[in-house]
Amino acid sequence: MTFVNWARNQSGTPAEVRTPASVEDVVRAVRDAAASGRRVRMIGTGHSFTGVALTDGIMLRPGALTGIRSYGDGLVTVAAGTPLRALNELLAERGLALANMGDITEQTVAGAIQTGTHGTGRDSGGLADQVAELELVLADGSVTTAAPGEDLFDAARVGLGALGILTAVTFRVEPAFLLHNRRRKLALSDILRSLDDLTAANEHLDFFWLPHTDACLVKTNNRSPGPARPPGAVRHWLDNVFLENTLFGAACALGARSPGLIPKINAVSAAALGDSESVDASYKVFTARRDVRFLEMEYAVPRERLAQALRETGDLIGRMDWKITFPVEVRVTPPSDAWLSTAYGRPTAYVACHVYRPTPNPAYFAGVEEIMTRLDGRPHWGKLHTRDAAYLAKVYPRHADFAALRDRLDPGRLFTNDYLDTVLG
Ligand SMILES: Cc1cc2nc3c(=O)[nH]c(=O)nc-3n(C[C@H](O)[C@H](O)[C@H](O)COP(=O)(O)OP(=O)(O)OC[C@H]3O[C@@H](n4cnc5c(N)ncnc54)[C@H](O)[C@@H]3O)c2cc1C
Repeated sequence: MTFVNWARNQSGTPAEVRTPASVEDVVRAVRDAAASGRRVRMIGTGHSFTGVALTDGIMLRPGALTGIRSYGDGLVTVAAGTPLRALNELLAERGLALANMGDITEQTVAGAIQTGTHGTGRDSGGLADQVAELELVLADGSVTTAAPGEDLFDAARVGLGALGILTAVTFRVEPAFLLHNRRRKLALSDILRSLDDLTAANEHLDFFWLPHTDACLVKTNNRSPGPARPPGAVRHWLDNVFLENTLFGAACALGARSPGLIPKINAVSAAALGDSESVDASYKVFTARRDVRFLEMEYAVPRERLAQALRETGDLIGRMDWKITFPVEVRVTPPSDAWLSTAYGRPTAYVACHVYRPTPNPAYFAGVEEIMTRLDGRPHWGKLHTRDAAYLAKVYPRHADFAALRDRLDPGRLFTNDYLDTVLG
């Protein structure tokens, strides 16, 4: 079997593929790998753009390790391979919800937290920050739990699959809640002037800047007492399916054939941006569909450097002859205490650059990466970047502690792959 990721830019052929259905099956796979001198990794749903999930040894698929194990007292424990989509539904049936989420729900819970998947939040951070306990199988085949106060907990929440195979994840959850979603068009220059106010005034601020224009689509989500006012079926289809996927896909395809038209296409898109509002269940508001395939690079910069990061990115795109169709997405989170979280120890802003999959633009990513690394940026572990362990050790204060824990728990590097060798050393 050949593994290919969502973006179709990473592939590999593992020596063996298994689909464990129990913790015991995972233990067996780890022991078998160790005994036969092979390596072993579990994958999620292949939504990482980097080679973080690849293995040449035993690849464990998550499909039979799913579902809720237990819930109560504001906690829910799910098997590690449960897709976020299923978790949302299981929680909603019980009147519960996650405090915050990223843009999509395709990933497994373990796959999402291992690379530090995040959404946007003034007070609530990425998925790993909502974890209360982990169950994992270590390289010696033992099954352990990691809880707050332990180094393993702070290291393994965003663990890149380097410390063990997660078999269950316990999340802190909240009573289900509604979000008031507001979309409006604002000028980038105005946003940059009022960035602190906008961030402080909204529980969840997310904006999309359209290159070659000064226009941004600003989405704010704030808790609402209700009543629910979900977007009508036609409005929902128009915004989430037609405009953001079908029409956008057609515009990308047109731009790929005639790059000279891209500034004009973006200007038309900017003019079409309209205001809209709705109130709906949190998980429906947080997440969206992504049908158009793209490549992505995302950097986390100290929050106070966001305006400079965006100004320099805008200047760079203006100076170069690149034609960029995809919006640049900006999100924020509070500091995290997970050692390898991109938000570790600092209020963080995320700048995400995308390109249409059929027309990669390595110079664009390299140019933006140069800006972000000058500003002490940390790359998303699951999105394209060219950083190595030497750089990452400078921007992650606990990188050496993570490496030391890995040396102790996996001295034979049962769980490693080429990507981990590069980023962890
Ligand atoms: C369309 C799209 C939208 C996205 N939106 C966002 C977003 O809004 N925010 C964001 O931060 N990121 C986003 N991402 C990135 C994505 O969330 C991450 O790359 C995430 O890790 C993918 O999860 P996955 O289940 O596909 O895991 P994979 O990519 O398959 O694996 C990720 C890592 O997790 C490890 N892993 C998986 N299961 C286990 C386990 N049981 N035990 C140990 N290790 C394990 C794998 O070995 C690998 O190292 C997006 C990606 C795409 C393609």
